[in-house]
Amino acid sequence: MNLSDPVENIKGVGPKTTEILAKIGIKTIRDLFYYLPRTYENYQENVKIKDIRPGKVVLKGKISGLETKRARRRNFTITEGVIRDETDAISVVWFNQPYRAKQFEEGKEYYFTGTFEFSHGKYQLLSPKTYLAKDIDDKTQSGFRPVYRASGRFKSENFVQLFSKLRSDFAFIPDLLPEDCVPDFLQKTGRNEALFKAHYAENDKDVEKSREYLAYEELFELILAANLNKNEISKLKAKKIPFNKEKIAEFVKKLSFNLTNAQRRATWEILQDLEKPIPMNRLLQGDVGSGKTIVAAISAYQAALSGEQVAILAPTAVLAKQHAESLSELLEPFGVRVALLTGATKNKPLLKKKIKEGEVDVLIGTHAIITDDTEFKSLSLCIIDEQHRFGVNQRQKLLMKTEKTSFAPHLLSMSATPIPRSLQLAIFGDMDVSILDEMPKGRKPIKTEIISELDFTDILYKRVRETLEKKQQIYWICKTIDKTSEEKSISVKKMAERLEKTFPDAKISYLHGRMKNDEKDKIMEDFSGGKIDILVSTTVVEVGVNVPNANLMVIMDAESYGLAQIHQLRGRVGRGKEASECYLVIENEKQPSRRLRELEKSTDGFYLAEVDLKLRGPGEIYGSLQHGALDLNIATLADTKLISIASKYAKKFAKNPENVVKYPELNTYIKKYQQLTTLN
Ligand code: ADP
Ligand code: MG
Repeated sequence: MNLSDPVENIKGVGPKTTEILAKIGIKTIRDLFYYLPRTYENYQENVKIKDIRPGKVVLKGKISGLETKRARRRNFTITEGVIRDETDAISVVWFNQPYRAKQFEEGKEYYFTGTFEFSHGKYQLLSPKTYLAKDIDDKTQSGFRPVYRASGRFKSENFVQLFSKLRSDFAFIPDLLPEDCVPDFLQKTGRNEALFKAHYAENDKDVEKSREYLAYEELFELILAANLNKNEISKLKAKKIPFNKEKIAEFVKKLSFNLTNAQRRATWEILQDLEKPIPMNRLLQGDVGSGKTIVAAISAYQAALSGEQVAILAPTAVLAKQHAESLSELLEPFGVRVALLTGATKNKPLLKKKIKEGEVDVLIGTHAIITDDTEFKSLSLCIIDEQHRFGVNQRQKLLMKTEKTSFAPHLLSMSATPIPRSLQLAIFGDMDVSILDEMPKGRKPIKTEIISELDFTDILYKRVRETLEKKQQIYWICKTIDKTSEEKSISVKKMAERLEKTFPDAKISYLHGRMKNDEKDKIMEDFSGGKIDILVSTTVVEVGVNVPNANLMVIMDAESYGLAQIHQLRGRVGRGKEASECYLVIENEKQPSRRLRELEKSTDGFYLAEVDLKLRGPGEIYGSLQHGALDLNIATLADTKLISIASKYAKKFAKNPENVVKYPELNTYIKKYQQLTTLN
């Protein structure tokens, strides 16, 4: 069996399953084997009701007294009942799942897995998943079961069934990593056993062993790719852009503020890179508000001074427009021709002609400008804001744009996601890193406060009123878009309705990821133009937008976000002259987590990144980490030990790049990473 074969080659996978799997991105046998459980449930460890404690629980019992009620609000049902075992009884509740009332066979035992917590005036089991106990007990001797990320009609259960037919196929999976690149303590496991244990784990130890091996494999691939990139980049040629000390000094002198020391250092590092005949591949890391734009502007100015063109790529049209505005303001007085190219640009052919003929020095746009037919005269510097993961196609297209000159562009990536210093060298093996670890002077720190839902009307609404009276603006972050089966989290739409009732004179709009791009852009534009007072939104506002007049942020269901994410969100306020505040709303009668308390204490992104690392620990199983700068599916940044070992082995291996050719499968995956980690 070959891992790169299509899934339909597996016995028992028919055309229908193949089609469903393809939609989730599972095309090959490898894709399927690496579709790892999201978590595990341990039915062996079911508790007796008399011993139950708040938190996640597994119970085995019989259910009775089921009844569905309609809530006063339209379209909302509550189904309640009682679960009983030989020791005691508790109540159970589901929201908007009326079928639950008829689901259970009388007198039969079921497993219930869910959260036992205080809600609606009493302790109860909230929206548990249920299984017929006999089914589980028959299928797994260990009582340990994987839970897969469901996708549409294909439920976790379907994956369990699918894998149950594949047990014997795992024996034949060859190792991916070269033998001498695997540390001793992982040698015993091997890839086949690691994958096997992921899908058929019988206890926590299996899970940990499997995760450790697969995390190592992932880290090794990523870090090796970075190292090989570095080798390859060093062989490419780039245009030398000489440092024009006088002009740059004049530019800096004319700024309305003094650069921070960190900005000076980063600028210096970049300008030195640009002077070299090999392409720069540098990451500029700086917390939100640390002033990355000005560093980018100086770099762009330097390129323009030597007659080279610069492309600045932003993840959204709104951000592109904002960049264009601030860069025009900064650069045009110095004779630099700045242009914006987005979907909304009028007379594109004329602009494209100018770009081609070199009449535009700095072009700002979304990633589309490298995938569309825009041609440059001499593109030598490419600056990417807030997202430096490029798809294979985008990368090739960019190279095609510079093909005529046979020079590769210098690349500067900017990211606001602080990664602990201790890990930077290993993780970004191919990139040089400049850090802005100092905030511009005079910034008022964002005051952060945890409040419970009960204090809403007293504290929060008062602050909202004051903010509105001062004609300042508010971000209001919610977890979900519309109503869900979980009543607990309030949706964007509901929150907007609620606020409209409470503040009838305020202009309130909402924003979420399911809206069309131009709709989103319009709302963001209205908000930044002051036409909206309160913007209720999901986390789509997370990246980059700059609305200095917004200085109050409310984050509902704050406990459901990661530390880094809240820090990022919070960075949307505190961008103006006024002091700003961020309220983290948590459920009534709950103690705030350490995570939130740290956010209350500090606004230093690098400190928080370190804290995050400590707090995460090994608790998250296969936590899919999207850290802005890098996507890890299995490993997390908390795997510091694995990261440093992988880095050591990868470096050694990369010394002889011809090594890779001997490992075709590894080579394929490395290629994938390489294309993702660099443009060059
Ligand atoms: P980010 O790093 O989040 O992209 P920006 O570049 O948008 O930050 O800068 C945030 C704000 O700080 C901008 O309004 C910018 O003009 C201002 N700023 C940048 N550097 C300084 C500085 N050294 N002193 C004072 N204000 C600065
Ligand atoms: Mg920015």
